Amino acid sequence: MPPGGINQHFKTEAQRVRRLKSVRWPKGVRCEACGSSDIGKIKTRKYYQCRECRR
Ligand SMILES: [Zn+2]
Repeated sequence: MPPGGINQHFKTEAQRVRRLKSVRWPKGVRCEACGSSDIGKIKTRKYYQCRECRR
């Protein structure tokens, strides 16, 4: 266990995810297929779906 235990682990994990998102979508989430910014977030599956092309 690192200092801070499991809470510390979750904090750094959240920071890592946020950094990855900012690298991948610097101006917000965009569709990789059509470039649309009209993206719906699917909470149950934990990913994004484009409302234009359904990818
Ligand atoms: Zn699309």
